[in-house]
Amino acid sequence: MKNHQTPPVQSFLLSLPISIVSCPSCSSEFDQPCETLNAIIQCPNCNRQLIYIDGFLHHYRRRPDIFIDSVHPLPIAPGFTMGGEISVISNELQVITFDASYNRPPEVFFLSKDGEALRDLLLENHYIAAVSISSESFILLSRTLDRELDYLPPRIRWMAVGEIGEHEKPVWINILQNAADLILKSEDRAAFVMLQIALDFYYDAVLGQLKLGSRDVKTASRRWKMSDRRAKIRLLENYFGRFPRNVTNKLVDLAEMRNRVVHGKIEHPKAHILSAKDAFNVIIEAIVTTNDLKYAYFKRENITIDNENDD
Ligand SMILES: [Zn+2]
Repeated sequence: MKNHQTPPVQSFLLSLPISIVSCPSCSSEFDQPCETLNAIIQCPNCNRQLIYIDGFLHHYRRRPDIFIDSVHPLPIAPGFTMGGEISVISNELQVITFDASYNRPPEVFFLSKDGEALRDLLLENHYIAAVSISSESFILLSRTLDRELDYLPPRIRWMAVGEIGEHEKPVWINILQNAADLILKSEDRAAFVMLQIALDFYYDAVLGQLKLGSRDVKTASRRWKMSDRRAKIRLLENYFGRFPRNVTNKLVDLAEMRNRVVHGKIEHPKAHILSAKDAFNVIIEAIVTTNDLKYAYFKRENITIDNENDD
């Protein structure tokens, strides 16, 4: 097998930004290209302000598993999908170059005849897979199963999904992305830890939007004789109102699972068993629910968003 360096034939090339958002105040959907994740944008329907990333996550609030889908996960930050069609050169390695450079290696898929996205393809007398996926390219591996058979080299469609461009990001988004990567690699133990950290940083960011810092959290945790994490939730509830019980209960289950997975400690034997994927969905639900309460509070108090200190 030799490395085939000439550009492959591409009869179509799609390139599509994933840039749809939903307004947390009125739930209307609109398309808005992302400049930075912290950008404050305006809903064209209700004219309320929102932070870009809040609108992006709100859009996927009913399908949080889409970020950790083992077949075609979407990037947690707005991303790009691109793809093309190529003639396979049997039993050679073909370098497929992307149209642009992804921030890190994207997820690469092939489309079956039925339009299903698959990690590898088993066609009549051909096996096809992507190897050595980098930010700029991947290598298409093709093997004929029986070289004696007559065959027509197939034409196949591929697609890549990932992030493009430098977006200024809140820290909690970076950590959440790391957690999603760990779940996709089945590294559940590390994922549980990472998810809890992501939620802590998210709460810090929202407290920052309310002009509350770590000193306020310390004072509150001493006053209320509770952990910093519980004090953060209590502080937010003082502004936004009580978090829905079903979400709080899931967070308790999640803390229990994290302690079991990390320390082997069982404190609440009746807690629901959560997989790392369940835990991810709980975290997204907690974030989106908190955001809904936050935007309802801003609306009630007629507060304009000042996102300067959000990180
Ligand atoms: Zn709106």
